[in-house]
Amino acid sequence: MIETSDVEYFPTAIVGAGCAGLTLAHELINSKNFPCILLDPHKFRPEHAFSFWDDGHPHLTLARSLARKTWSKWEIRTFEETIQKSSSRFVYSTVSSSNYENYLFKTITENRGKILNARATDLYNTETCIRLETSSRNVVYANRVFDSRPPTPTKKTIFQHFLGWEIKTNNSVFDETLVTLMDFRVPQEDGFHFIYVLPYSKTCALIESTVYSDTVFKPKWYENQITKYLTNVIQCKSWDVINKEQGAIPLNYKKDLKPLGTPIGLNAGAMRTSTGYAFSQIIHQAINVGKQLQQGQNLVQIKPGATSFENWMDNVFLDVLSSSPKLAPYVFSTLAKTLSGDDFVKFMIGDCPLSIKSRIILALPKVDFILGALRSPFK
Ligand SMILES: Cc1cc2nc3c(=O)[nH]c(=O)nc-3n(C[C@H](O)[C@H](O)[C@H](O)COP(=O)(O)OP(=O)(O)OC[C@H]3O[C@@H](n4cnc5c(N)ncnc54)[C@H](O)[C@@H]3O)c2cc1C
Repeated sequence: MIETSDVEYFPTAIVGAGCAGLTLAHELINSKNFPCILLDPHKFRPEHAFSFWDDGHPHLTLARSLARKTWSKWEIRTFEETIQKSSSRFVYSTVSSSNYENYLFKTITENRGKILNARATDLYNTETCIRLETSSRNVVYANRVFDSRPPTPTKKTIFQHFLGWEIKTNNSVFDETLVTLMDFRVPQEDGFHFIYVLPYSKTCALIESTVYSDTVFKPKWYENQITKYLTNVIQCKSWDVINKEQGAIPLNYKKDLKPLGTPIGLNAGAMRTSTGYAFSQIIHQAINVGKQLQQGQNLVQIKPGATSFENWMDNVFLDVLSSSPKLAPYVFSTLAKTLSGDDFVKFMIGDCPLSIKSRIILALPKVDFILGALRSPFK
């Protein structure tokens, strides 16, 4: 144990003040588990878009109230075809990460919650509570500790990696009513690759080059892809980049053997592995944890984004598409054609009953996926 400079006690401590940590702390305000302390070594979090499928569920009320824009139509494009979809149940929404996280930060601190700028390093159980140590020699005592540090990738990890530009153009080049979820009219040689277009207006959009593979590229790679796409596909002559966002999300990883508390967020699988959607699952998980604590449950059950079977299906899906990226345009366009708008969204977010799963299995190229299934033993 380290020599301490400062000791504090809180009912709840949360390691990591990212989306999951802040959402959970916000959920605990007005309960006996508050005030809570969040520890994070990073003061600054870069701005990006949090996009999510909204079915009107109350757990999305806050995100909905802060949404920058909502769309009811989306498309998937390949060189051969364009599949446009809409849904009777879901709209696609986006919220600025700074707006969402700053709102939570402000509300938490106004209610006597604390954010400590420190890296959590170790955790010990004492007779009465938990002792959490930090690299800045602060010690926090808490009744309960949650761990939202990002998962650690392994050698076999596949990443969803991307770089996006929010751009402004002089001419009207975007259809502001239609989100392009995946445009596969881009090279597939370096991994399963598509461009995502989130049109905020006719002259402003987020254009993101997204790849699924085991190697994360240098920024220049994605920037070249976006430039070629804007020039050749959108036929846009000039633009100004007003914001950049970048990420590499590990889609498969091993459980942390020494967590600093109960895992939450991406660290607790709050994500649909095959599509990378996590935001609404993170919120759902935080609300669920809050409810269990409110009911006085001692052993909190953390609901992951998917069941073991769904994770296995996702891993087979990822394995096949990352080893044969050229199949991706066919697979996603076939799924979009086979499933209704509602069912396609359910597949994207992982709310997928057996009837949809079996239609997906029947629609996929049999030989590739049977071989993929044989390569990925069910765990
Ligand atoms: C650029 C980007 C865009 C995304 N867009 C979307 C989207 O549109 N829709 C969607 O559904 N998902 C999206 N995601 C995925 C996911 O929703 C986010 O990654 C989300 O922020 C995950 O939340 P989290 O709290 O689990 O992890 P993070 O937000 O990564 O928070 C983890 C925190 O832990 C801190 N930390 C690490 N080590 C320590 C330590 N030892 N002690 C204390 N703190 C520590 C880190 O500094 C970090 O702040 C996006 C991700 C990125 C990176």
